[in-house]
Amino acid sequence: MTTAAVGSPRTYQVRTYGCQMNVHDSERISGLLEQAGYLRAAETDDNPDVVVFNTCAVRENADNRLYGNLGHLRPVKDKHPGMQIAVGGCLAQKDRGDIVRKAPWVDVVFGTHNIGSLPVLLERARHNAAAEVEILESLDIFPSTLPARRESTYAGWVSISVGCNNTCTFCIVPSLRGKEKDRRPGDILSEVRALVDEGVLEVTLLGQNVNSYGVEFGDRYAFGKLLRACGDIDGLERVRFTSPHPKDFTDDVIAAMAETPNVCPSLHMPLQSGSDDVLKAMRRSYRSEKYLGIISKVRAAMPHAAITTDIIVGFPGETEADFQRTLDVVRESRFSSAFTFQYSKRPGTPAATMDGQIPKQVVQERYERLIATVEEITWAENKRLVGETLEVLVAVGEGRKDERTGRMSGRARDGRLVHFATGAGGLAGRIRPGDVVHTTVTYAAPHHLNADGEPLSHRRTRAGDAAEAGRSPRTPGVLLGLPTIGAPAAAPAPTTGCAAH
Ligand code: SF4
Repeated sequence: MTTAAVGSPRTYQVRTYGCQMNVHDSERISGLLEQAGYLRAAETDDNPDVVVFNTCAVRENADNRLYGNLGHLRPVKDKHPGMQIAVGGCLAQKDRGDIVRKAPWVDVVFGTHNIGSLPVLLERARHNAAAEVEILESLDIFPSTLPARRESTYAGWVSISVGCNNTCTFCIVPSLRGKEKDRRPGDILSEVRALVDEGVLEVTLLGQNVNSYGVEFGDRYAFGKLLRACGDIDGLERVRFTSPHPKDFTDDVIAAMAETPNVCPSLHMPLQSGSDDVLKAMRRSYRSEKYLGIISKVRAAMPHAAITTDIIVGFPGETEADFQRTLDVVRESRFSSAFTFQYSKRPGTPAATMDGQIPKQVVQERYERLIATVEEITWAENKRLVGETLEVLVAVGEGRKDERTGRMSGRARDGRLVHFATGAGGLAGRIRPGDVVHTTVTYAAPHHLNADGEPLSHRRTRAGDAAEAGRSPRTPGVLLGLPTIGAPAAAPAPTTGCAAH
């Protein structure tokens, strides 16, 4: 047992479930705890002083998983005096006090709107020797005002908005994360500059619906302008964003993408279904024709863009004909990759109680056909790149087999995963995560590319220096504030959300 000695800093671990937004929230949780004097425990340490679960409510069995994990931790806590367990995120926002009723050994429950309270709640729970449950109904401060301990030296998430004004019937986000709140462009750009100053080369702008960014402060073209403004930041090499929404996608965004050199030629645009009837039942207010129209405009402006998507199969009421329509749209869209989901009931969503729930074996069978079609297309699209030279930003943890194969891995500008040989010419051992190489594709698989020749170039970067030195970027919790243009400070809303849009 590694209980901290009296006077030595308490250690913490954050266990994250769910989407990128939760991953980014966990960076803030880590930043807050470190600012409060806690030390991060090694991943292999099974006995830290504080364990924080950052939960996700999206999947049907999310609560079983949480309570199972809490159950496993109970005997560990019994043997570790002073250990504290905190539960935050969407499931905490949903289950609130139920969590300490079902698992009375939990010390703190905090919601999606008050991440910043965690250190105080831990302290108060220790002092009072009683559980603290604090859930707010709306956002107090925009979460990006909180300090963050960034996980990557070369890439950073930057929130541009939180919450969502849509009401997709399969999604729990609107009820747990609330209405969309947009962050001021100046604050976003300051955070991007702060990351670049720390050596970060790539940022991903995050929002549940980036295309509605700015509607709250009266500028529906704000997102395209934000992309162009990112283009003026020296040292920022790659700009990505997630997620767009076909309903709100406007042509100025396509022009901004095509005309801003550091905006990557990639677009992750959720389709969900190719059937207009199913889209209607999902309350997704675009139709397949609009979706395909956006894709053809993107392709006309950026012929090399890689387009990826999310698709749900087996939504209540989906017929075989509806499913065929999804396959048609997949074939026509020529995705370079797709996240495919089998519909499963998400408690608290309208779709969970709809008629026409599809039997599991039908969903499974459609899902397998969808995967076969997607893979046929992604493989064909990837094969077109064999022989091309790509710029790869070297990553950590993207190639599970790298050690065995002697390769390293990273992402091309269009987002494709590339496993590359470091070559016999002395580069092996000198390329670091965060560096940039150019290499030529020699083989294509459905989900990745290989480049097995000698790299054509290797550029050492500040991100690579930071990775080598074991430093990770930190952004302070300063600046910011919620936008108030044209209105008094509103009763604000929520934080981030789920993977499906
Ligand atoms: S799926 Fe995305 S767009 Fe739809 S309600 Fe959820 S967060 Fe909003």
